[in-house]
Amino acid sequence: MATLLDPRRPPAFCPGCAHERCLHALDRALVQLGLSAGDVVVVSDIGCSGLMDTFFATHAFHGLHGRALTYAAGIKLARPHLHVIVTMGDGGVGIGGAHFLEACRRNLNLSLLILNNFNFGMTGGQFSCTTPPDASTASGFLQGLEKPLDICAVAAAAGAPFVARSTVYQRGLSQLLSDAIAFPGFSVVDIWGPCTGRYAKRNPMRPEDLEEKMAQLPTFRGPIPGNRRPEYGGQYRALSGKKPPMGPTQFCIETDFFPAVDDRREVILAGAAGNRIISAGTLLAHGAVAAGMHVTQKNDHHITVMKGPSVSEIIISPVPVGFTGVECPDAILAVAQEGVLRTEALLGKLLPTARIIAARDLSLPPVSAHTLKVDFSAHGIRRSERALAAVALLARTGDPITVEMLRAAIARTLQGKALEESLNLLARTETISLAP
Ligand code: SF4
Repeated sequence: MATLLDPRRPPAFCPGCAHERCLHALDRALVQLGLSAGDVVVVSDIGCSGLMDTFFATHAFHGLHGRALTYAAGIKLARPHLHVIVTMGDGGVGIGGAHFLEACRRNLNLSLLILNNFNFGMTGGQFSCTTPPDASTASGFLQGLEKPLDICAVAAAAGAPFVARSTVYQRGLSQLLSDAIAFPGFSVVDIWGPCTGRYAKRNPMRPEDLEEKMAQLPTFRGPIPGNRRPEYGGQYRALSGKKPPMGPTQFCIETDFFPAVDDRREVILAGAAGNRIISAGTLLAHGAVAAGMHVTQKNDHHITVMKGPSVSEIIISPVPVGFTGVECPDAILAVAQEGVLRTEALLGKLLPTARIIAARDLSLPPVSAHTLKVDFSAHGIRRSERALAAVALLARTGDPITVEMLRAAIARTLQGKALEESLNLLARTETISLAP
């Protein structure tokens, strides 16, 4: 008889383990569907069910506990022609519950076989999300405190279009698995059976006991009409094919200038949300890149909008920058008190040769650096313009970039009204005295 099992590796489970019956039922289903080993990927979870893939001669993937569906989704999206079958225990469903719900909602064409033996067999028989409250397990009384999960009810409620429940003893299990695999969407089969090595030793489990317990729950035998809908992968390919390809934006900045400095410089822009700190830092960085310098920009800001500190750290260097952290700034451009508070530790480290350009209304800790206090308001410079104005004043010192380099960066980077306003701002800063 044809088989997709690997003859070099016979199945090895504890005697009477339900997993072995399930393994053979799956093998029969694959053969019945006329699939070859190269058509199939068995993605297994952790636990004794995680051995399943090792006994098949098909493609296989074995990953982290509870995450098998995530790998399977990636494989199916990348190789849609493959039949991707996920084997997972009840332990894996509990651990990876969110992935299970997502798979039901998404409806990617995967087949999930849950080898449900009501405990974590491999680790000694601890309770899982499906353990009955009155069971005896290796984890004492804990299972008595929680309501067991009805996997099929949850799958159906979450949108799975094919949901079935069976014991390993039921006739027609391989046909059920065959139907699940052939179904054009996400299919879940909750397969009950004993873990003879652990759980069934304390909780005798005859086939009729399983049938009796199963009869107390709603019946699930396949397609859920209300959940039928187009399969995710096909829709994804159809929609993504109409979009331009996604990828990193690549552009080249021509080297138009000689470097203004021949040594490393560290500059910090410190302000608040709304000061356009990061935009101004980017223009400074662009200016230096156009002179062939290596530049890094590291930004620090809250997720809040128009509130909270905003800091941008720029390193400009004639050699590649290995570590992007600023250790001893050469210049700090401070335009809001929140930024001063955020950079207080670095302000205290400034060397006497360092430069501070700060808004006049800020309170700074005592420092020995050259400090230029600027009354931005008196020059009609708004809060949102302060950061770029401070960069322009720094550029007027010619270190680490020049005004020409900054102007070219603005012209290269901005467009329309933003370009016009920034060039206008640059012109206005020329009237500000650089005398302390
Ligand atoms: S411990 Fe339980 S689940 Fe694991 S192989 Fe043995 S019987 Fe099967």
